Amino acid sequence: MKSENIMKAIEGKRISLEDCKKIFHDALENPEELFWASQQLRKKFKGNAVTFSKKAFFNLINLCRDSCSYCTYKAEPSDGKASMMSKDQVMQLLSLAKKYRCVEVLFVTGERPEQRYTQARKWLNENGFKSTAEYLIHVSEMALAYGMFPHTNAGNLETSDMRELQKTNVSLGLMLENVSDRLTEKGMPHYLAASKKPEERMRILKNAGTLKIPMTTGILVGIGETPDEIINSIFAIKNIHQKYGNIQEVILQNFQPKTDTRMHSFPSANEEYFKIIVALTRIIMPEMNIQIPPNLSPKSYQSFLNVGINDWGGISPLTPDYVNPEFSWPAIAKVEENSNDAGYELKCRFPVYPEFFSFISKQLRNKMKIIGNEERMVKEEYWK
Ligand code: SF4
Repeated sequence: MKSENIMKAIEGKRISLEDCKKIFHDALENPEELFWASQQLRKKFKGNAVTFSKKAFFNLINLCRDSCSYCTYKAEPSDGKASMMSKDQVMQLLSLAKKYRCVEVLFVTGERPEQRYTQARKWLNENGFKSTAEYLIHVSEMALAYGMFPHTNAGNLETSDMRELQKTNVSLGLMLENVSDRLTEKGMPHYLAASKKPEERMRILKNAGTLKIPMTTGILVGIGETPDEIINSIFAIKNIHQKYGNIQEVILQNFQPKTDTRMHSFPSANEEYFKIIVALTRIIMPEMNIQIPPNLSPKSYQSFLNVGINDWGGISPLTPDYVNPEFSWPAIAKVEENSNDAGYELKCRFPVYPEFFSFISKQLRNKMKIIGNEERMVKEEYWK
């Protein structure tokens, strides 16, 4: 006999925030019912496909005006890894990415580095750009000219910059992280990160919604949040999507401590807790594309296929995960083998999901058609 709230989820009836909090607490005792329900919904809405995006990670600049307690990506000018990737370096990596038949060009930067660092301002000035965002617009055009598809994740972008990037980027990324203000208080992970203030992140996601930009967002799981805070965060994303319809994907990223950070001795996210959050996200947003990064659960990522995920996110055959450099991506062939063994078919998607193609320009859609198939996925002969 399934519980009333689980049956409501299965039958597509509205489940409230309070219902979800009850489901979470029941799952701590016995998660099987929740895992079963998440699988039913996953099968109903996503069939037996699991997707990924074949990408190259372009780490434009590690400087960042903020400081999150868990971040090893941010560098200081004295670290020797803080210079802007030049146009020539971008061109060289684009050429290599094309050889590897990457589809997505992921551009990542710290949060508006020029607002804090003379070095970044100087480089931008000398190279004819007013801001990092303006440089991102330029390199996105370069990527598109190579027949690959940019997806930019550069923190809180101005609306005018998003409007320009929308011309070349088939989607943009911005993690909500968590909607709790408590995590921005003194001693908490986002205390020194103004851009991570929940109202700021929500504002950007809403602006992207107004612009009809397909957005990838998500939550960082295990950074000291309470279960209620994480459930509130999933509902916050759901509410944005209900209003604007532009959230294409939710990433659930499990916290892994980094040795050189303030949170170095904080424990990794507990796997059972993480699975409950993943399954709960499927219950709250049954039709959503839900991703976990396979490199952050290297020994067990395939087991997440049984708790509701339908995407592995970007996997690069060429570049490291600069945000989690100690976790290399598994080989795509291995991900395919593990997905098949679990009963799923691996498909390569564009950095925009098929159901959001109508959000992007005809010009971009026509470029995707060259390597796309009738399912609006990437042709197998291109990515394999
Ligand atoms: S997580 Fe992002 S915003 Fe925070 S310090 Fe690192 S690069 Fe900056």
